[in-house]
Amino acid sequence: MKIAFYSTKPYDRIWFEPLGKQYGYEIHFIEFPCTRETLFLAKGCDAICIFVNDHIDAEMIEVLYDMHVKGILLRSAGFNNVDVKAAEDKIVVLRVPSYSPEAVAEFAAAMLLTLNRCTHKAYNRTREFNMSLHGLMGTDLYGKTAGIVGTGRIGQAMIRICGGFGMKVIAYDPYPNSELDVEYVSLEELFRRSAVISLHCPLTAQTRYMIDRKAINMMKDGVFLINTSRGSLTHTDSLIEGLLQKKFGGVGLDVYEEEEGIFYEDCSGEIIEDENLARLMTFPNVLITSHMGFFTREAMEAIATVTMENAHALDNGLPLQNQVGACAVKE
Ligand code: NAD
Repeated sequence: MKIAFYSTKPYDRIWFEPLGKQYGYEIHFIEFPCTRETLFLAKGCDAICIFVNDHIDAEMIEVLYDMHVKGILLRSAGFNNVDVKAAEDKIVVLRVPSYSPEAVAEFAAAMLLTLNRCTHKAYNRTREFNMSLHGLMGTDLYGKTAGIVGTGRIGQAMIRICGGFGMKVIAYDPYPNSELDVEYVSLEELFRRSAVISLHCPLTAQTRYMIDRKAINMMKDGVFLINTSRGSLTHTDSLIEGLLQKKFGGVGLDVYEEEEGIFYEDCSGEIIEDENLARLMTFPNVLITSHMGFFTREAMEAIATVTMENAHALDNGLPLQNQVGACAVKE
């Protein structure tokens, strides 16, 4: 099997190179993202392997189909970046449904703790022997209410972590899990009651911009909002408006709706044209990271292992357990 591996970073090769050899697959590591312009690099390949910011639309599906590409191997759980409906009956789309939910939940907790206790500011201050505490006061999380949106794998890990802090945990999910020891409430009630809101649902037509002006207005003053799911869950203009109105105690964004082309790249020598991103960076209570919630050794190894298992299943006509189909899109 030949695989065109887009958006390659040095750390991807650590696991994929040996696994490729083990399976006897030829992996073409391509540093470029997968775009209309770079699609021709997959010529002669049986599958393409892509990451979260490689967007495959219906037109690209047609090109891949004409090139006899059989599969799209996603190195991610989320699949909002592929037009799955257009791929139906043409190209198999396979994802890695779960690799380390703890990795993402622990990162969401890290963002919350950083924002709340200002450890990032303290680090910079003490290195210059500025030992003043002024402006670094946080709040106890113990006894406060955490609102978890989406109680799937990552949401459940976040519920465990927040429970460990002694927080009262409430949750919203259109498909509640009766086995969880959590109080399910409506989304509106979650917005109104939570001191901390952490988003762990997929990006769908229903969830796009779930954090808009109306939602922000319902929230408590001083609320902490953490988004480690997908950027477009949050309406950025409304978020900036809320920040200017001093609504938030802190906002942690591991994802951003216009992250494509910026996140995962070193843009330190470039003029950033995205004014919203530049504006967000100016708020002292906003922490932006480059879509790295997943980035642990355990998660990277699991992503590589399952991606290659998916390729093997596709290559050998085995049951495709991780196929993303029309049903998943409807959900
Ligand atoms: P999952 O499929 O296990 O859980 C998602 C949950 O969201 C499900 O329980 C589902 O019922 C619920 N949901 C669906 N629609 C909803 C809605 N309208 N409102 C609230 N909840 C809704 O997925 P997961 O593994 O927990 O991952 C969650 C998301 O995290 C992914 O979709 C992905 O976007 C994101 N993610 C981010 C990173 C990162 O590095 N930052 C890594 C992996 C996943």
